[in-house]
Amino acid sequence: LPSVEFQNVDFGYDPDRQILHGLSFKVEPGQTLAIVGPSGAGKSTIARLLFRFYDPQGGRILIGGQDIARVTQGSLRAALGIVPQDTVLFNDTIGYNIGYGREGANQDEIVRAAHGAAIGTFIESLPKGYDTEVGERGLKLSGGEKQRVAIARTLLKNPPLTIFDEATSALDSATEAEILDTLGSLAQGRTTLVIAHRLSTVTHADTIIVLDRGRVAEQGSHRELLRKG
Ligand code: ADP
Ligand code: ADP
Repeated sequence: LPSVEFQNVDFGYDPDRQILHGLSFKVEPGQTLAIVGPSGAGKSTIARLLFRFYDPQGGRILIGGQDIARVTQGSLRAALGIVPQDTVLFNDTIGYNIGYGREGANQDEIVRAAHGAAIGTFIESLPKGYDTEVGERGLKLSGGEKQRVAIARTLLKNPPLTIFDEATSALDSATEAEILDTLGSLAQGRTTLVIAHRLSTVTHADTIIVLDRGRVAEQGSHRELLRKG
């Protein structure tokens, strides 16, 4: 499992407005690091830099000790799995959506792999079977159900780094709590970066960084940060 490291990263979309100021943090192999902070702090920008949608103007980003500026786009994509806030599913079956990208695997294999990967219980709460058609021509899934499919798809890919970018922020609080409850245990042993609004949704993270206008304002465990207020 790789570590992920930001070393003194400077970044701005425009030359006259810097968004990240010498940002440094490290996600240790197998650990969960959460980045919380107000809207506009620069949280999603961190995900965009990891995918190299943009490159920093200063500093380095390392995955497994390797500068991502020097790895191919293909291996970078293979190293990252992201669950975004709003998932758009294919108009196909639940199984297809979960297995998407798993070349050559048939539905049964995907279902077996999903259960083997301990995400089975997670998907069992979906309304129907894996062969249920969803989207415009089938069953309309709720936001929570869609996010479960997205999370299952990403976890099944088993990426070296799993990123949750506000993955549950758009859900009602009961659904969010249910998903977060399961996510805590599913993240065990995976190198995970969680981007979130509120401290209360990242209790399971090993380390939490509070980002404020592109700088680390606080860092610690959930308990430590609560004590600091
Ligand atoms: P967060 O995820 O913490 O809400 P973002 O990383 O999305 O914050 O955005 C940080 C800042 O960068 C915000 O002020 C936002 O307006 C600005 N920003 C985001 N995307 C762009 C862009 N494509 N071009 C210019 N500014 C952007
Ligand atoms: P793949 O489909 O490559 O197996 P993912 O399902 O994890 O892997 O990735 C889907 C793609 O979505 C990513 O490669 C990325 O380009 C894109 N993506 C979606 N949302 C975001 C986001 N918030 N930040 C960065 N990339 C995103």
